[in-house]
Amino acid sequence: MQLPREVIVGTDILGRIGETCRRLGFHEKALVVTGPNAYNIAGKRVIDLLAAEGIPSDHMIVHQSTMEYVKSAEERIAEGKPCLVLGVGGGKDIDIAKLSSANMKIPFISIPTTASHDGISSPYASIKGLDKPYSEKGQAPIAILADAKLIAESPHRLLASGCGDIIAKYTAVRDWRLAHKIKNEYYGDYAADLALMSAKLVMKNAQAIRNKSQEGIRTVIEALISCGVAMSIAGSTRPCSGAEHLFSHALDAVAPKSALHGEQCGVGTIMCAYLHGTDWKLVRSVLQKIGAPTTSRELGLDASDIVKALTLAHKIRPDRYTILGETGLTGEAAEKLARATGVID
Ligand SMILES: [Zn+2]
Repeated sequence: MQLPREVIVGTDILGRIGETCRRLGFHEKALVVTGPNAYNIAGKRVIDLLAAEGIPSDHMIVHQSTMEYVKSAEERIAEGKPCLVLGVGGGKDIDIAKLSSANMKIPFISIPTTASHDGISSPYASIKGLDKPYSEKGQAPIAILADAKLIAESPHRLLASGCGDIIAKYTAVRDWRLAHKIKNEYYGDYAADLALMSAKLVMKNAQAIRNKSQEGIRTVIEALISCGVAMSIAGSTRPCSGAEHLFSHALDAVAPKSALHGEQCGVGTIMCAYLHGTDWKLVRSVLQKIGAPTTSRELGLDASDIVKALTLAHKIRPDRYTILGETGLTGEAAEKLARATGVID
């Protein structure tokens, strides 16, 4: 089980990066992986803070979460021989830092400036250009510094997407239980309950999240971190990724321009909750309250993309048994489901 050793959540806590590195025993050179925006928001400051602590650093700017950027980060690690990688920014920056550092066998620290998905804390990275459409195992961050102020100032759409990714655990855990009953798959109560509790806390605090109150932001950050820990405990993405995630991965494949991961997972959760016979209206109303999309139109996608993704979702990862079963949904059933839940009209 790989778990973070230090998790610092609070307002204006970026200043603690230098002492955190030192306390964890990192005094030598570091590599900061950040995005063009994130560099201005936090990356530059992290570099300066490290320098003030006597820790030299290199940095690289990434634009996409592709294998090309992972490879070039690995080259930078091989050349510069840093003892540590810091991922500063959104999900893609952190995913590149995570996978490249894991492949090069050095630790990494996660410094999220947005809360758009659970990759900020999990050992898994979502990278385009792999031979599979779902997450790749990287490593858990050795430390997480999540500045609630930076996350509150990021676009609301990103925060709402993070909530969609958390609410997805509502059906992911039900899929896991189903796989346990039908396929005798290993099921861990602790990991499952931790993931489900994160979903429930976000659902309960929907209004506070919408208002971007301190309490609301903190709930989202802690829920994302707890989801990452649930995956570390389970040793797989199982507690956090069920049919709603397969649907989102299928959408990435069929739609010419997909929406954000968490936005798609949220819409998937509405439909999967319907299939599970649980309270799908509650899922929908919570997403609406938070300001996350609940329809194909709000996702910016065609109804036909939704239906097609629903029929293909079970093929994305055949080893992962879900409510979609082994043969998946027929086109008619998919259309009925999407209409019944108001996702398409
Ligand atoms: Zn996810």
